[in-house]
Amino acid sequence: MTPSESTIRVAVIGSGPAGFYTAGHLLKGAGGHGAGGHAVDFEVDMLERLPTPWGLVRSGVAPDHPKIKSVTRVYEKTAAHPRFRFFGNLTFGEHVSHAELLSHYHAIVYATGSPLDRPLSIPGEELPGSHAATEFVGWYNGHPDHTDLELDLLAAERAVVIGNGNVAIDVARMLVLAPAELAPTDTADHALAVLARNRVSEVVIVGRRGPAQAAFTNPELLELGELGDADVIVDPAELDRALAVHDPAAEADITSRRNVEILRSYAERPPAGRPKRIVLRFLLSPVALVADEREHLGAVELVRNELVADAEGKLRAHATGERERIAAGLVFRAIGYRGIQLPGVPFDERRAIIPNAAGRVLDPASGAPLPGEYAVGWIKRGPSGVIGTNKKDAQETVDAIFADVAAGVPDLHVGGRAPQTPDGAAIERLLRERRPELVTYDGWSSIDRHERTLGEASGRPRVKLTRIEEMLRIAAGD
Ligand code: NAP
Repeated sequence: MTPSESTIRVAVIGSGPAGFYTAGHLLKGAGGHGAGGHAVDFEVDMLERLPTPWGLVRSGVAPDHPKIKSVTRVYEKTAAHPRFRFFGNLTFGEHVSHAELLSHYHAIVYATGSPLDRPLSIPGEELPGSHAATEFVGWYNGHPDHTDLELDLLAAERAVVIGNGNVAIDVARMLVLAPAELAPTDTADHALAVLARNRVSEVVIVGRRGPAQAAFTNPELLELGELGDADVIVDPAELDRALAVHDPAAEADITSRRNVEILRSYAERPPAGRPKRIVLRFLLSPVALVADEREHLGAVELVRNELVADAEGKLRAHATGERERIAAGLVFRAIGYRGIQLPGVPFDERRAIIPNAAGRVLDPASGAPLPGEYAVGWIKRGPSGVIGTNKKDAQETVDAIFADVAAGVPDLHVGGRAPQTPDGAAIERLLRERRPELVTYDGWSSIDRHERTLGEASGRPRVKLTRIEEMLRIAAGD
């Protein structure tokens, strides 16, 4: 990569969908013509903490959803662009600082997602048997941070999943998939071995509000009714109670209306006698996790809610005095994710995002954009939407970059700032010095080939490497 007079160098931090769509839009260069018709080229370096790219497409999307994962073909095309580089196994703020990146790039785009779980903040949450969905999802997907998770799937017969979003559905489905449904997937080997002997026969999904307020999307809810080994159970009386409260917002929402239809059909459907059950419960909030005699999770204490409209008319869950206890050896909280603060980068603690206006990072003191700094994806808008949502979101951020570049042409100022050393070779030298085990896209391609080859033998898309050391060995060609 030779820097030219008219090259804008961009560092994208994070290699999930938002990061890749940003790189793709930048390299397509639709807005690469600055003021006065001055042509501008973009070079993109993507920095990633793991040796592997693709973020939640690799470590979040459920293994039995291979079609969703096929989006990586689009990212592979972006990665093949001559002005794209991948620097994996490198942590922003640890191996390279915010200030160092600013001195080497015209712009930085933060695409670091929302890696933390949200706690329930109730007594007993720390008991063995109580888990964040993020841990379980990372574990079955082979994320190296979660390879050693201790999950007692061999003793518990009932699991409770808290939350009414698609993550709750993924977790419930993964717990009851038939061995034949799991076998052709890229579920991590350590998880396949445990899931094959899993004794959980009932999963209760608990929503604090009603069916009309659930955050499920229709295909995901429908899929629950098509599982080989599990019946889906909904109590018609509970459904009616929750639907008795009028919710104009839900009634105007086509996804919500269809969810209610699907749930009504489940309530009417007699169980087919499958060996496992997924039970959908509503209007319940956990108030405590209760230990058994082994000091392990034994039950979930819940309070019954009613729906009450707030000042804006939004229906909220209000606790009644009525309680219920569900015996369970496992609890997964799937109540949303949280972003994490990056060293040197502004952070809105309350929303757990980087404060921004249409992708331009804002200085919390002045409220003005910080020149050359942008955010995209979940760290920009919070953990919502599906993978494709990030394409449009990335376009908004890239349009902001294009506009700021155009305003700075011909001096190649972005938002009034130009880097001291906009030199691709110099930053690569620095990164390699700091992190000799840097993994480039070639290194990742070796890992990818290795995993796919291992998968071929068992008719699976890939067998994932789950240990960083092993990934580094394969990336280095050993
Ligand atoms: P989500 O869609 O935001 O759902 C979170 C759920 O947790 C909501 O039902 C929420 O209820 C509930 N909740 C929040 N705080 C709670 C509390 N203290 N007690 C009880 N319940 C609580 O989040 P998600 O499931 O983590 O999914 C994140 C994003 O990824 C979503 O956009 C989702 O669609 C997407 N995703 C998509 C797929 C797919 O397409 N297959 C798969 C997985 C994830 P309230 O509504 O009452 O707040």
